[in-house]
Amino acid sequence: MNSHAASPSAFKTEAAHALKKPQLKIALDRATNLLQGRRTEVITNYPEFEEARKLAVQVKDHTLENLDYYLEQFTAAAEASGAIVHFADTPDEATGIVVDICKTREAKTATRVKSMLGEEIGLPAALAAAGIERVETDLAEHIIQLAGERPSHIVIPALHKTQEEVADLFTDKHTRQRSSDTVEALVESARHELRPKYISADVGISGANFLAADSGSILTVTNEGNAELTTALPPCHIVTVGIEKLVPSLEHTAVFLRLLSRSALGSEFTQYVTFFNGPKRSGDRDGPEEMHIVLVDNRRTTMLGGDMAKMLRCIRCGACMNHCPVYSVIGGHPYGSTYPGPMGSILTPALNSLEQAGDLPNACTLNGRCREVCPVDIPLPDMMRALREQQWREKTGSQRTRWIMTTWAYFALHPWLYRLAVKLILPSLRLFKSSNNRLKHAPLARSWTKDRDLTLPGKKSFIDQWHSGKTN
Ligand code: SF4
Repeated sequence: MNSHAASPSAFKTEAAHALKKPQLKIALDRATNLLQGRRTEVITNYPEFEEARKLAVQVKDHTLENLDYYLEQFTAAAEASGAIVHFADTPDEATGIVVDICKTREAKTATRVKSMLGEEIGLPAALAAAGIERVETDLAEHIIQLAGERPSHIVIPALHKTQEEVADLFTDKHTRQRSSDTVEALVESARHELRPKYISADVGISGANFLAADSGSILTVTNEGNAELTTALPPCHIVTVGIEKLVPSLEHTAVFLRLLSRSALGSEFTQYVTFFNGPKRSGDRDGPEEMHIVLVDNRRTTMLGGDMAKMLRCIRCGACMNHCPVYSVIGGHPYGSTYPGPMGSILTPALNSLEQAGDLPNACTLNGRCREVCPVDIPLPDMMRALREQQWREKTGSQRTRWIMTTWAYFALHPWLYRLAVKLILPSLRLFKSSNNRLKHAPLARSWTKDRDLTLPGKKSFIDQWHSGKTN
């Protein structure tokens, strides 16, 4: 069953459902606590973190400002190494190019190594419509493909599943019996299922973490080695990648590699960093005969120069979601889009429309942790606020929120009225106090008091206390 919400417009309903799932809570607590702890430790042991972050911002901003130049340089270098480079403006164009390549090769099966860009452009559905069997090779993607679900995290797509749930799923779907439910036994079981598929696949499809413009290289960063098997064994390798993944040179990738693994999984480095340069050459023992690179725009050039341009710095580490108090309790599915969490709440409206993003810009407490941990210093809370302002100006978003904010603004602009209202409301609220001196039911705040008690307000307002000189 697909637990993924159909669209961001269902965010509130899906979030409410998610809060009622005890297994999801266990999975989210385990994963986010572990990832937060690991990141803190590894960043504490990396005194150059702030310096690396500043450098990464400079490199990204410079590349984005000169994107046309670096795109041309990358294309020339990649073609010189024997790759075929394609440009796609829209998701349909991108999936069309991939499907056409598969059809030309009469491909029946395609192995795929995780690429959020593939999800963004709807590649799984396009391959299915073309009758091409898709085999996800990333362990987490394999899990959710078997479960018929969609990713809930950009780095750990099956983060919403507990080990126990995965064990049950493998028992149901895998062909071989396991002797235990340990992580090692589960991994071995997945390996046994996937190995023959790598060997028989007609096409291997990958994403890319970075593109080096000077050498035309594609970089993938993984921990399982599945990128290498997916790209080297089939006769044709197709890369689908967003144009914002460019950096000027191979040398520049070093700073991002140091930031990415520390921010994503709290490890100093990943197990595999692979640089791809074109197809197999004469004398090479391994590698595909043909390599295609599909460079996807999908509104990224529209974002350049606009309020959301800094979002193009994103290196998809997932740290913002691991540290988000909203994501940590509801997981990724309620966001109803490819990219969940704080970065998704910005990217979804940027890649689609603010109207389609619904409540996403409001799914945030503005506590600022996402910006604090972001390795490329994206001002996510400021952007979230800017989107809320835009929703206000364009009269989209919740009518109830509009009404509340209009009333609030009126009172805030009339201080005498505000003080009068506070004088009347404070004593009235005390009428609702329960035996433990807290508010169990408060008028106009039912959704808050439904799940928790409110602290009883003081007898005097802050302003009254201030005037009387007693603010403690
Ligand atoms: S916004 Fe920053 S923290 Fe979030 S995924 Fe992108 S790079 Fe990582």
